[in-house]
Amino acid sequence: MPGFLDQEIKYLPGVGPKRAELLAKELKIKTFGDMVYYFPYKYIDRTKFYKISEIHSQMPYIQIKGKIRSIETVGTGHKQRLTAIFYDDTGSIDLVWFRSVKWQSENLKKDKEYIVFGKPSEFGGRINVVHPEIETEEEKQLKPSGIFQGYYVTTENMKNKYLNSKAVNKLQLTLINLAKGKIKETLPPSLVKKLKLTSLENALTVIHKPENSYDLKNATFRLKFEELFFIQLKILAIKHNRENKFKGFRFEKVGYNFNNFYKNFLPFKLTDAQKKVMKEIRRDLNRNIQMNRLLQGDVGSGKTLVALMTILLAIDNGFQSCLMAPTEILAQQHFNSISKFLEGMHIETALLTGSTKASRRKEIHEALTTGKLHILTGTHALIEDTVNFSNLGLVVIDEQHRFGVAQRAKLWQKNDLIPPHVLVMTATPIPRTLAMTVYGDLDVSVIDELPPGRKPVQTMHFYENRRKQVYNFLRQQLEKGTQIYIVYPLITESEKIDLKNLEEGYRHITEIFPDVKAGIVHGQMKPLQKENAMQKFKKGETRILVATTVIEVGVDVPNASVMVIENAERFGLSQLHQLRGRVGRGADQSYCILMSSYKISNESRKRLETMVRTNDGFEIAEMDMKLRGPGDMEGTQQSGMGFDLKIANLGKDVEILQLARKIASEVLDADPMLQSEENRVLRQSLMNKQTDFDWSSIS
Ligand code: ADP
Ligand code: MG
Repeated sequence: MPGFLDQEIKYLPGVGPKRAELLAKELKIKTFGDMVYYFPYKYIDRTKFYKISEIHSQMPYIQIKGKIRSIETVGTGHKQRLTAIFYDDTGSIDLVWFRSVKWQSENLKKDKEYIVFGKPSEFGGRINVVHPEIETEEEKQLKPSGIFQGYYVTTENMKNKYLNSKAVNKLQLTLINLAKGKIKETLPPSLVKKLKLTSLENALTVIHKPENSYDLKNATFRLKFEELFFIQLKILAIKHNRENKFKGFRFEKVGYNFNNFYKNFLPFKLTDAQKKVMKEIRRDLNRNIQMNRLLQGDVGSGKTLVALMTILLAIDNGFQSCLMAPTEILAQQHFNSISKFLEGMHIETALLTGSTKASRRKEIHEALTTGKLHILTGTHALIEDTVNFSNLGLVVIDEQHRFGVAQRAKLWQKNDLIPPHVLVMTATPIPRTLAMTVYGDLDVSVIDELPPGRKPVQTMHFYENRRKQVYNFLRQQLEKGTQIYIVYPLITESEKIDLKNLEEGYRHITEIFPDVKAGIVHGQMKPLQKENAMQKFKKGETRILVATTVIEVGVDVPNASVMVIENAERFGLSQLHQLRGRVGRGADQSYCILMSSYKISNESRKRLETMVRTNDGFEIAEMDMKLRGPGDMEGTQQSGMGFDLKIANLGKDVEILQLARKIASEVLDADPMLQSEENRVLRQSLMNKQTDFDWSSIS
């Protein structure tokens, strides 16, 4: 049943069809509800007045009382402007209008007292205010504004049609007046009471028209909590649902293969972090519930080995496994390292990618259905294909951020009886708050320790003028026998120029180091050529690899210990960190050299400074989120978890998020289907809020 907030925005007094169209187009505001949930981005205290003598151009805004001494229209046509001299008993400033010149000149009166509000700036040695808000004392009194006036983001198109922040504010005030007694509570009364929340209606009123900062704080808290709570409720409901609906295979045994590998084949000791994670996985597998675990660990932390040992557990319990990687190169690499680890053990493995020949493909299909094949490694050919397992018990997905949540779901939906356990591995560290949301339906394990003996990569930042010294340094390193990556940015818009830079860079390098073999890899090459160039570098036949970010993910060449990143200012933090992870895999001291031009933005500078300062992936992720905001973080776009948060901020509202998750979890534990009288309102709210969420799938 449509409620008050579902009404079309054009019916709000002051809106009408034209403005409704504008609001829909510019801000996606279509209903009363959309409008009332369009919150101010800041508030300004409209009780404070300044004297003109106190004003300087650095002030963010001013409010003054005074009179107009003279009004003058200057220029013609669209260059026309209106200037008024405004004074009080301490001095005078200029008020300037470029728009609605005629209207203002006809309506402004000399020697009448006005209240002027706006942002001061300086022009020709005088302070002026461009497009001030100007009104009489009586007009101000009439306005039902609170002590703080809310400011709303509006677009240029809106401003041109006089739908500025002030106008939006006015509409909001009309709306909340109309809404009195009509906004239904979205949280159960017990919850509202327990958390001492203010009612939804009150929160929505106060957020647009706060009378004091205490009320504003409470309203903000209520709305942030609600926003995060419903996201968590949705995610956790999915998790609960999955755990209830799908049983999991129980891997009770730690059997011969696992033990044999551990005792006789494992070439080194597990790190404590690897052991801890193995325990967590063991517990999951022994529960009768499908495992959905995310394994986070910095590049080089040894995730592959954890995956392999999990696979061995599956084999010991009579199940097949598959390992899925986002690219051919990575799949090949996983296949190679798994095969090497398992050399001498009687375990059948195979590689399946887009370029696997039809005859081989047929063999693999057969070995899979007969159960002869234990481990299948490959690209997403694994899911797309008509690949049938005889008893698939475990799916390992590497570098999760390349796959969307939907693809992940497809995997466990594929089998409608009992879905395989799922282990997702990612080397992209993400802040905890984001993990709780993007990966909120997964359990998370973290490998927070590198294998012993690794020397942290040393990172340096140089400007162009030091290029010669950098080349000298590279020469020294080459003489020590090491290999070098040189990476260029390649982004789609300027692809052609970038490719040219890359090719020039390559030529340049062959001139500087004529005696050293160099290779080149970029996205425009055919897969086979690419593969070839990579292989040559891997084998050490080429010693310098000039490349684009195609090497970003997971390529393992332990002898490469120098990473040069050209135009480093153009890369994002997580990308820089990923690239740096390509070195530091062997025993030698490794280096990451960030080259940049002089002219870089502040944000770029912060990124480069962060890279030089720390190797800690989580610290880098936190900084990344601070600089870019959570919406742009890798993985969030595909997450489908509704990241256009209206009021909460994943970077700042950590505590509210934790509370929201805890409460959501408690609610679902007590009433998984949200069937109680109390919780019906939650079920209703979820249905109203999440159009993309098929709540019926829960029941
Ligand atoms: P990730 O996939 O987490 O980036 P890998 O699994 O590729 O890391 O491991 C990086 C390297 O470290 C590999 O050569 C691997 O064999 C090695 N390695 C893994 N675990 C250990 C350990 N406990 N001790 C020493 N080396 C290890
Ligand atoms: Mg890896």
